Amino acid sequence: MNIISDRLREIFELLLEAYGPQHWWPAESPLEVLVGAVLNQNTNWQGVEKAMASLKRHNLLNPHKLQAMPTEDLARLIKPAGYYNLKARRLKNLIEFVTETYSGDLEIMKQAKTGRLRKELLAVNGVGPETADSILLYALQKAVFVVDTYTYRVMSRHGLVGEEVSYDELQELFTQHLPLEMKLFNEYHALLVRVGKLHCQRKPRCKGCPLEPLLT
Ligand code: SF4
Repeated sequence: MNIISDRLREIFELLLEAYGPQHWWPAESPLEVLVGAVLNQNTNWQGVEKAMASLKRHNLLNPHKLQAMPTEDLARLIKPAGYYNLKARRLKNLIEFVTETYSGDLEIMKQAKTGRLRKELLAVNGVGPETADSILLYALQKAVFVVDTYTYRVMSRHGLVGEEVSYDELQELFTQHLPLEMKLFNEYHALLVRVGKLHCQRKPRCKGCPLEPLLT
């Protein structure tokens, strides 16, 4: 257990030293993070930013306005994020859940227990573990580790998990071997995304990667 904790710490320190704090999530409000978590599915951040700007221009970053809006109109506004018809439906599902269960108030939502919130979010059609955990960590500031493709690549390529690892097992690698701290999980995930984009791509570019010294 200590060897794994030490290795996870080492990875974090090397990435932080190389890249510095990532200041995630670049959003103005928890609702923006929640909306961004859906828009961000299978796309790049530039597309998300354009879609978000379009929602802001129309003064729509409000749960009640979003809920009242016809899905087709919402789809048109978020077109730059890609898969816009699907994402508009997913966003409507999520907003409906937030308005009906928490009166559209993310501050009230924050008061609920993490386990309950995760279960509720996963029950929303179109919300998978990565989206649910991004909302929990970045919008609701819960100590939940977000797992994505980059997490998988870095951890499996450094021998910390096997290739067949599940989402939950990969998440447990962090939650069982690191302190349950929201700020640490926020920064760690952001740093893994950074190294994943710059180096740990489908074909790894290990030369010059901050984690190259850890390869055996
Ligand atoms: S690119 Fe290479 S050194 Fe960098 S994280 Fe991936 S496997 Fe490790």
